[in-house]
Amino acid sequence: MDKVDCVVIGAGVVGLAVARRLAQAGREVVVLEAAEGIGTVTSSRNSEVIHAGIYYPAGSLMARMCVSGKHALYAYCREHGVPHRNCGKLIVATTPKETEKLQSIRAHAEANGVLDMKTLSGEAARALEPALNCDAALLSPSTGIIDSHAYMLALRGDAEDAGAAFAFHTPLLAAKAVEGRIELDAGGEAPMSMACNLLVNAAGLAAPAVARGIDGMPIDLIPHAYLAKGNYFSCNARAPFSHLIYPVPEPGGLGVHLTLDMAGQARFGPDVEWIDTIDYAVDPARAERFYPAIRRYWPTLPDGALMPSYSGIRPKIVPPAVASQDFLIQGPQDHGVAGLINLFGIESPGLTSSLAIADHVGGLAGL
Ligand SMILES: Cc1cc2nc3c(=O)[nH]c(=O)nc-3n(C[C@H](O)[C@H](O)[C@H](O)COP(=O)(O)OP(=O)(O)OC[C@H]3O[C@@H](n4cnc5c(N)ncnc54)[C@H](O)[C@@H]3O)c2cc1C
Repeated sequence: MDKVDCVVIGAGVVGLAVARRLAQAGREVVVLEAAEGIGTVTSSRNSEVIHAGIYYPAGSLMARMCVSGKHALYAYCREHGVPHRNCGKLIVATTPKETEKLQSIRAHAEANGVLDMKTLSGEAARALEPALNCDAALLSPSTGIIDSHAYMLALRGDAEDAGAAFAFHTPLLAAKAVEGRIELDAGGEAPMSMACNLLVNAAGLAAPAVARGIDGMPIDLIPHAYLAKGNYFSCNARAPFSHLIYPVPEPGGLGVHLTLDMAGQARFGPDVEWIDTIDYAVDPARAERFYPAIRRYWPTLPDGALMPSYSGIRPKIVPPAVASQDFLIQGPQDHGVAGLINLFGIESPGLTSSLAIADHVGGLAGL
């Protein structure tokens, strides 16, 4: 049986960042990817926002990795010429009751290490964005947007330059922990078996299923996978905004927000739709809930402007009744399987946090 040092399952943004980290530390790395190329699943179905780290529970992995990952990501984009824009975001209160909440949002952000938030009067917010309906707002200057595909290409390039190899159309089928190493079988066009010292499960939505296929992994430590789809609508009218615009969050979600792509096109969403099977079709009828929500902060959104666009699915590991989840990163000290690292529940801000997650995995791998 062939032996390699490290195998990474999944070439989404997280698997790519991990492969780069391991390869640049001198480790031999093979990435097994079920699809035909990099980043075809959740990593190309998101908002492409570099999040500041405002809302995550204080002390959570999400809070810490979002803040450190954001700084690392901006530096990486600058050094590697990855298109990005530090455009900032406004959290907009449209009623006095919402205005009262801004202070606690700011205090929470500061507890997470997001120290640059600014409180703006309605007038000051409208000086930045004249089309806004707004009582008051919080400005998050460190929020931005990124061309996520260019970022993933750069990560892949770094990994390959450091010697990592990629096998596409090559799903991991099963693995077994044997005497300190892991033996695995991969299928696809060129089925193969190999043994490795380190297996990193970065399979995104499929990470719990991949873990269940590893003989020796304690089944009671594998979280249940729940699917929370997020639907997006594009806008056929020009949206007159240069910042990302978010309402004050409501219980259960961030509300219908406006993000911009690198071409300046506005998109609205994602909403939250719990589903049982993977299906990326966007139901046009969901637009009816978007119009009133958007018109609270953009009253002149024209009728008929919203067009169904795309969707992504959050890899949840908690059921709908649980308000928030954290990244769940398990190493041998958690599950007892030498050489196995599982990455579960890497939903937003996984893109922003990708370099920080890779550093954390590197630490667990003894780098
Ligand atoms: C609607 C939505 C909006 C989001 N917006 C943002 C945002 O604005 N900012 C942000 O920071 N984050 C955002 N995120 C989160 C971010 O997109 C994810 O955290 C990130 O893309 C996860 O990357 P990943 O590599 O873990 O997973 P994926 O991109 O899903 O990659 C997993 C890979 O594993 C492969 N795979 C699966 N099973 C196997 C197998 N058996 N063998 C081999 N390969 C396998 C898949 O084919 C896939 O390529 C958003 C997420 C969603 C759903």
